[in-house]
Amino acid sequence: MHLISPSKVIKGRQAWLEAIPHILKITKSPLILGRSQSTQNIRNQLARDLTEKDVNVISANLEFDCCFEDLNRIRKLIVNNKCDAIIASGGGKVLDAGKYLSDFLSIPCITVPLSASTCAGWTALSNIYSTKGQFISDINLKSCPDILVYDHDFIEQAPINTLTSGIADALAKWYESSITSSSNNNGIIQQAIQISRVLRDQLFIEGKDAYKNPTVYNSSWCNIVEGTGLTAGLIGGFGGEKCRTAAAHAIHNAITQLMPKNKPLHGEIVGVGILLQLKLEQLKNNNQLANQSIKQLVRFMKDLNLPCSIAELGIDVFENDNLNKIAHFTCREDSEIHFLPFKIIPSDIVEIIASFESKKIAL
Ligand SMILES: [Zn+2]
Repeated sequence: MHLISPSKVIKGRQAWLEAIPHILKITKSPLILGRSQSTQNIRNQLARDLTEKDVNVISANLEFDCCFEDLNRIRKLIVNNKCDAIIASGGGKVLDAGKYLSDFLSIPCITVPLSASTCAGWTALSNIYSTKGQFISDINLKSCPDILVYDHDFIEQAPINTLTSGIADALAKWYESSITSSSNNNGIIQQAIQISRVLRDQLFIEGKDAYKNPTVYNSSWCNIVEGTGLTAGLIGGFGGEKCRTAAAHAIHNAITQLMPKNKPLHGEIVGVGILLQLKLEQLKNNNQLANQSIKQLVRFMKDLNLPCSIAELGIDVFENDNLNKIAHFTCREDSEIHFLPFKIIPSDIVEIIASFESKKIAL
């Protein structure tokens, strides 16, 4: 089964105002879910706008990431207040939590992403983390959200590193889907891979301009935020599981286990994961073009001030047995690393990361 897209996608400037009549058709008593204090004023605006339309709004914020502790607490709040829908408004962790709860309780979900850092507003997937931000698992949901409201005026207010993080995460679609599914004969999957290639090219062409001029008046910025928040989600929906993740995300999941002091954003870790995946392809699959791709990516990532090594994420792999920890988590039984068309064992991960981080491999 393909869960391709939200039932309605309302995007652009003032998308929120445009969405209100559609929201009123499906909820009279929603819970508005968020997390960060810095976006609380936007959620207050959502609550005010709906209250003016005689909607009974309850609000709640996550304390941690999308974790079972928060999910249980908020589930009780929803049940006790008889909420009939969830409006998840924030970054990826908030969107994932809202989608998970609406799926669990079989009530509609409206996603209102407040940054371009993720396509979580679109997809039928939730990633579950520990209270400390360590990846636990991803859960397939029964459907994509009912309404996705992608309001450029809200997204413009987000910190710039959410944009660059979203770009790195969206780039991963091509690098991961092309290696895992290029020999797949299914036409739909082939077409999804091609969309991810077109998206990659657009990110390369317009990403730097979007980063330098992050405003709703810059068409490059509009194209890039729609690429990271919408097209990246469509690729996952259209192509299915195999078009989503491979080594870059498997390495991301492993790195989250180590919890550096200043936690990087999801896409910032995934970007480093792409570089390491390409190194694996070079060493284990004789990919002659991998080094070229790494050079091209590193140049682009540096232009966007994205981290280009695990050290730049704030983790020393040569301390605390970190290298082995990353290698073993990356290669655990149900890891996406095994979607690669060649076998990977922990010593391969140790080898490429050790040489990459000690710069024995020239960038
Ligand atoms: Zn991702």
